[in-house]
Amino acid sequence: MRRLLRVNLSSSVIIEEDIPEEVAEAYVGGRGLCAKYLYDEVPPGIDPLSPENKLLLASGPLAGTSAQSFSKWIAVTKSPLTGTFSRSLGGGDFGAWLKWAGFALIILEGRAAQPVYLYITDGKYEIRDAAAIWGETTSQTQTYLRKEHGPKARMVCVGPAAEKLVRFSPIISGRRAAGRGGMGTVMASKNLKAIVIEANRSETLANPAEFKRLVRQQAKGYKETMDGVVFDVFREHGTVQGLDWFYPLFGSIPMKNHRFAELEGWRENIGMWPYAEVTEKHVGCYSCMLKCGKVRRIPSGPYAGIASEGPQLETAWAFSGPTGCTNRDATIVASHRCDELGLDTISTGNTIGFAYELFEKGILTTKDTDGLVLNYGDHEPMLELIEKIARREGIGDILAEGVKRAASRIGKGAEQYAMHVKGLEMPGYDPRARKGMGMNWALSNMGANHNYGWPQQEIYDPKPRLLDPVADEGQGDVLKWNHDQTAGLELAVACYFPSHHLQFFGLELIAKMLEAALGVPKFGSEDYLWYVGEKVYNLERCFNIREGFSRKDDTLPKRFLTEPLRGGVRDGEVVRKPDAILDQYYDVRGWDRNGIPTKETLARLGLEELDRDIARFRR
Ligand code: SF4
Repeated sequence: MRRLLRVNLSSSVIIEEDIPEEVAEAYVGGRGLCAKYLYDEVPPGIDPLSPENKLLLASGPLAGTSAQSFSKWIAVTKSPLTGTFSRSLGGGDFGAWLKWAGFALIILEGRAAQPVYLYITDGKYEIRDAAAIWGETTSQTQTYLRKEHGPKARMVCVGPAAEKLVRFSPIISGRRAAGRGGMGTVMASKNLKAIVIEANRSETLANPAEFKRLVRQQAKGYKETMDGVVFDVFREHGTVQGLDWFYPLFGSIPMKNHRFAELEGWRENIGMWPYAEVTEKHVGCYSCMLKCGKVRRIPSGPYAGIASEGPQLETAWAFSGPTGCTNRDATIVASHRCDELGLDTISTGNTIGFAYELFEKGILTTKDTDGLVLNYGDHEPMLELIEKIARREGIGDILAEGVKRAASRIGKGAEQYAMHVKGLEMPGYDPRARKGMGMNWALSNMGANHNYGWPQQEIYDPKPRLLDPVADEGQGDVLKWNHDQTAGLELAVACYFPSHHLQFFGLELIAKMLEAALGVPKFGSEDYLWYVGEKVYNLERCFNIREGFSRKDDTLPKRFLTEPLRGGVRDGEVVRKPDAILDQYYDVRGWDRNGIPTKETLARLGLEELDRDIARFRR
């Protein structure tokens, strides 16, 4: 795990490099290494869609082994949507193949003169012509590449929306997406359509007997927990099961562009049982017995036969809540089309919901929408807008910029209806009903991303302590805990779903596995992984500070601070004291009142050399 592949698409020069031992030890792997290289190699102020930006893809040190739920892959870049550090995890089996190919990391830089794809096999690397697949959907692309390279190949690719530089395009592998922040947009901006890896299974372990013992213990833990009710429901229904309790018990599912917490007809049609009726099979990532992916096929009606690996919870919400639609089949069609075209479902659904509200307010009319009537509850225009965004056609060209940029282009006060943090559209939780979740987004380095430190303490997790979801203040220390823990998990590119459901799946287990796999005694310490997680979080923060981000950006849209939530069990709630939460969070982090790490904090984390970049922003 000390090798990286550097691919310069401008010059077609590909080189293997050693990751220096001190860097590997200081940053462990996965997100840690990506954050370090991004900080060092991408200077502040560059356009994310220029050749100067870099895209990093990494597997974790445990990928491709028999350890459960460690074979995802991570993409890191400067986001074209937010201008911040951004990271996204993808599933499937590409992470295992990347590891077997012998690399902890691929660094993609420059821009090819024409569309290409990267082919990696047996220690050889080629940049090949992608003219035949440029413009093709993600399934067409993958079918072509599988034919070309055979069954031992695995791949990631981008869809036609990324080629049009829609700012929220994911990278797709199989039917799984590294969805958030425009990873695919950056890849397409480099004229890179796909990366194909052919590799044979290989496993080199420092202590095979101990590793095997830990994997057996992990698998036993999974099986025992699967017999419990909560986890069994997760395995059977996937993430959509959350909809069935977040809606009634927490009133936290936002409706009609984050105004309401209730919608007539929604519970009957969008939830685990309606989706269970059309679930065809359970699928999962490499070496994960949880198989949380669900292939769903529409049995009858106008969309009969269309299937999607999903929708997952966020996608089911994104194509119902924001537009007030309650048509289950439309959510499956939307999920399918976004995967095919290469669109992040959360950003797409939100952006369309934003357009629906502008239409209701008269800010957009049929003159602006190419004749589409955007009435809440009508799903046909929603499906049409997905196509228009992907093609950047008509109103789709504006919406393809994301809500923040679209609002400033539209004007007429549209900004107040744009629901985002730092430019990233919001997931399916209302910050007024779950204030820890809302402030997790406000403080996150990449904007509104629920999986960047999901505050499960508001639901059930007593570690480090339970949170009252509507408490006005006092969450800061727990939010730091979550942000650092997630960064720690992602040093090994561990999937966060098991950590949400299994008490034993955390940094303690990962530390033991890393030591047995890599033979680095330091990595066997849970405390060390917490320390590196905190370091990586601060490094990402410094990347943003260098770009001009600070306290002023750690905020939520005004709607959540001033407009009471309407309906549901949290009716009337607003976020009352965001500044108190920021202050507490900054204090426990060792940041100043502008949200800048102090000199002492940087020194404690071994990041003292960053002081030269950020000192001028302190106050
Ligand atoms: S829980 Fe789901 S997303 Fe996570 S590794 Fe397993 S199958 Fe993949």
